[in-house]
Amino acid sequence: MIFIFGYDQKENLLGPTEERKCPHCNNSSYFQLLELKNFISLFFIPVIPVKRKLIEHCPICHWAQEIPESSQNYYRDLAALNQAAINGLADEEYLRRKEALKKPSGEGF
Ligand SMILES: [Zn+2]
Repeated sequence: MIFIFGYDQKENLLGPTEERKCPHCNNSSYFQLLELKNFISLFFIPVIPVKRKLIEHCPICHWAQEIPESSQNYYRDLAALNQAAINGLADEEYLRRKEALKKPSGEGF
């Protein structure tokens, strides 16, 4: 019997984070938060998760940086909030929730 193993990666776009100037292409735009999941597959079906990381990338040139573990909750919440705003969340509610988010100090750009 032949087993077909593989090593694959899945990307999950979580939403935009903050508008900033990209250190690689110098364009200003909303960076996108992506979750990358690596796993071992058997017959092309993911079976064993191996690694998971969160990156923030420039939507223009795709330059990316990994989000440290200590900041991941903040960036996940921010991306979800911004995605909700795109989907029609009211301005007052957006501002109220954004105020409630606490950015971890000493990290980021
Ligand atoms: Zn860029």
